[in-house]
Amino acid sequence: DVPVPGKASTRFDLEKETELRFEVEAGEAAEQVELELLTGMAEVFGSELNRNKKYTFGPGSKIAVFTWQGCSVNLYGKPEVAYVSKDTPMLLYLNTHAALEQMRKQAERDNERGPRVMVVGPTDVGKSTVCRLLLSYAVRVGRRPTLVELDVGQSGVSVPGTVSALCIERPADVEEGFSVQAPLVYHFGSTTPGTNIKLYNKLTSCLADVFSRRCEVNRKASVGGCIINTCGWVKGSGYQALVHCASAFEVDVVLVLDHERLYNELKRDLPHFVRVVLLPKSGGVVERSKECRRDTRDEKIREYFYGFRGVTFYPFSYEVRFSDVRIYKIGAPSIPDSCLPLGMSQDDTQLKLVPVTPGRDLTYHVLSVSSAEDGEEGARKGIVESPVCGFIVVTNVDTQTQVMKVLSPAPRPLPRHTLLIMDIRFMDMK
Ligand code: ATP
Repeated sequence: DVPVPGKASTRFDLEKETELRFEVEAGEAAEQVELELLTGMAEVFGSELNRNKKYTFGPGSKIAVFTWQGCSVNLYGKPEVAYVSKDTPMLLYLNTHAALEQMRKQAERDNERGPRVMVVGPTDVGKSTVCRLLLSYAVRVGRRPTLVELDVGQSGVSVPGTVSALCIERPADVEEGFSVQAPLVYHFGSTTPGTNIKLYNKLTSCLADVFSRRCEVNRKASVGGCIINTCGWVKGSGYQALVHCASAFEVDVVLVLDHERLYNELKRDLPHFVRVVLLPKSGGVVERSKECRRDTRDEKIREYFYGFRGVTFYPFSYEVRFSDVRIYKIGAPSIPDSCLPLGMSQDDTQLKLVPVTPGRDLTYHVLSVSSAEDGEEGARKGIVESPVCGFIVVTNVDTQTQVMKVLSPAPRPLPRHTLLIMDIRFMDMK
């Protein structure tokens, strides 16, 4: 037998309070990199590593291995970059966690609710990473916090074009992140809040409502509080959307990452009892190009249908008759005020359900399957505020036979017949 040559390995000895940062090359052909903790203790974004276990990171991963006490690790394979940094804001992040934990303890004592935290900042400052860290730390000390995902471009919970909430019951898996079981997901339909800011704010309010109702009946959820991840759009209507979110969730703490002006504006505009805290970003956060973001979004949709890592899903492909479904787009194109029917405002048009006649241009669009009860045309109320139960992609449209072919995670029939169209498309290359 010819021995199979192992991957090249590099050992790193880390002093206390330092981190090893590495990136795996992007692209399908790129080789994975494995990480192994040899001695000491270390964590990846708040989740502890087991000793002598190999963790695998796929193409495009950007990882930091942080150690509080010092450790040594091995990297197997060829990372695109790998270096040790002494300059990390982890201590500040840990202190933030400690302060939030104090608030939870107090809430427990005084029979009140725990901290509701909004994490804001421009793109690429590590908002999602800070959320993951704070949630993992909270769950490690026995709390049950809720992640509220308002980043419609890069959702950590569901496919892009959605907002969602997820109860966190265990720390994020080092390789795979949080286990996504039974999230509450709403259809937004595009990757930037700007395409329909009224709808975005409405959905934020819906999530806040559901979360508050859950807190009324579930003490652990109430004490655990929530961590809200937001979009990187912090000007104009994007800023207004942050202020709206703060008020809808009645947030107690706002963590502003690396943006002094935003920090000052929020301090000025939010009620005085809201604690607004400015935190530095980590030097390790890597900027992502437009292409990289698009690829990540595509990957997220692919995962939804085909699974990822060890788990393979086998999606179904079947035909759906036009007459069996009702397809809507949320929001009519804006028209000049002077042309609006009497008594109607632009706001109404942004939340209006516009029926979509299936045509060839529907091909490749992602459609959300609304959980709203199938009713008559007249019973459309409530569709915007109804969560979605899943997603399908249109792969072919035949206007002659009035049938479209769809890719679906479950076999036919569709669980519901109200479909909401997204701007987002997915081309299935498999
Ligand atoms: P966006 O708003 O654009 O979604 P974000 O502000 O939420 O971005 P993150 O997604 O948290 O940013 O981080 C961007 C990337 O940087 C991620 O791939 C993450 O894994 C990586 N990253 C975060 N912190 C570090 C670190 N300390 N060292 C190395 N990589 C890091």
